[in-house]
Amino acid sequence: MINQEDFFKKITSHAKEYGFVFQSSEIYDGLSAVYDYGQNGVELKNNIRSYWWKAMVQFHENIVGLDSAIFMHPTIWKASGHVDAFNDPLIDNKDSKKRYRADVLVEDHMAKIEDKITKEVEKAAKRFGETFDEKQFRETNARVLEYTTQLDEISKRLYGIMEANDLPAFKQLIEDLAIVCPVSGSRNWTEVRQFNLMFSTQMGSTAEGASELYLRPETAQGIFVNYLNVQKTGRMKIPFGIAQTGKAFRNEIVARQFIFRMREFEQMEMQFFVKPGEELEWFEYWKKERMKWHLSLGIPASKYRFHDHEKLAHYANAAADIEFNFPFGFKELEGIHSRTDFDLSAHQKFSGKKIQYFDPELNESYVPYVVETSIGLDRMFLTILSNSYTEETLEDGSERVVLKLPAVLAPYKVAILPLMKKDGLPEKAREIMDTLKQDFMCHYEEKDAIGKRYRRHDAIGTPVCITVDHQTLEDQTVTVRDRDTMLQERVPIGKLSDIIRSKVKN
Ligand code: ATP
Repeated sequence: MINQEDFFKKITSHAKEYGFVFQSSEIYDGLSAVYDYGQNGVELKNNIRSYWWKAMVQFHENIVGLDSAIFMHPTIWKASGHVDAFNDPLIDNKDSKKRYRADVLVEDHMAKIEDKITKEVEKAAKRFGETFDEKQFRETNARVLEYTTQLDEISKRLYGIMEANDLPAFKQLIEDLAIVCPVSGSRNWTEVRQFNLMFSTQMGSTAEGASELYLRPETAQGIFVNYLNVQKTGRMKIPFGIAQTGKAFRNEIVARQFIFRMREFEQMEMQFFVKPGEELEWFEYWKKERMKWHLSLGIPASKYRFHDHEKLAHYANAAADIEFNFPFGFKELEGIHSRTDFDLSAHQKFSGKKIQYFDPELNESYVPYVVETSIGLDRMFLTILSNSYTEETLEDGSERVVLKLPAVLAPYKVAILPLMKKDGLPEKAREIMDTLKQDFMCHYEEKDAIGKRYRRHDAIGTPVCITVDHQTLEDQTVTVRDRDTMLQERVPIGKLSDIIRSKVKN
């Protein structure tokens, strides 16, 4: 068993070596927390996006799409609360000069205490064997109880501090917990300060007349400000949703962990407009629905969990995260939020335009409530990559690395490989490729021994390899090799389309 840190390093270097993800501006020594998607990465990313779009828009009659601009009127960010409140508390260590999010330092400290509890439970489980009652152990073991009390106290203080935006108390908490800088090991901290995460830029020519704009930190506001346009022109009836995918920008204080936390990233968001009072039912509905989507990709349920928020953002009356067990632990992958009428009401107030829905059944108008589902495309990419990367030792003792991607997401569905570069095999292979490429992303390869070509396609997750050999010329059959089982079967060329379709459908 390799440890999780090594596993994560392997995924990162595999992503680079096989053209999935590159550091941005690499030949200029890179740009921190910004990444580019390579030839295989862009296909995987597009496929994840369209798998989401299909589930949200194509499969729901009452959800439609939108593509709003990244630049928006600056007052939008005042109305949404981002200008005043989209801040993270930051703190610097004076010795290492490293900058941290104060809340993350405290949360990491809490995670360490949680680890201690888990270790106690594991130890006891081993000791007691089959008779072990975990619930009872957690409720009665003195050490576990002490840790649990510590956790409760810290989380109460943390939420209180965040709620009151009490920065000196934040510093005090970090000091009381004796948190040290992971780099310098020292407790020589600066004060805690607030830092706004929005990037700003100027629109228009120089000085006068130029106005300050923000790069959007979320795609959601583009949906809210288009609510009336879409509702009216689409004659949408409540409940209905608007979905959008697109870039978002956040000047993250600590950007680590590869594509998990980036400064430029992509979101896939859906805002679902409902009748006031029905939002919590819809919130539960979307929690279930979104979890179903994740599980439909064949990722084991044990790798996911819900995290219900105790501390709610100022605009929410319920919120939950879907967390995935990344190589660095369970972390947020998607957020589901009941945002009340906060956003639409705020835009109504700041724009002076009435933003309401006339409900023909009630014969009255109201500002709809909103339930949002918001997932990071790049985080989903990392989820898929970490769940798919597999190292296997084969029967002959050799090793293979295979990306067991859900076939529907694989960059190439089919590799078409003439056994040799002669005797008319390449021509026959090209002929097959020409018909299949109408429906499937295909990759033609004739260089290197066939075994090597199989390995290359294993490494990028191609579910099907088709090999064209001398027998093909005689009886119009080819071999089809399955990525995961490596089994090969001979099939007529005429059946290829159906076989591939059945493997890649989802
Ligand atoms: P976090 O607590 O990790 O900063 P958040 O709660 O601020 O995330 P939301 O504002 O709810 O995130 O954004 C919705 C989704 O967008 C997140 O669940 C995540 O998948 C994605 N996301 C947010 N920030 C980033 C980022 N910096 N890089 C990549 N994806 C991100």
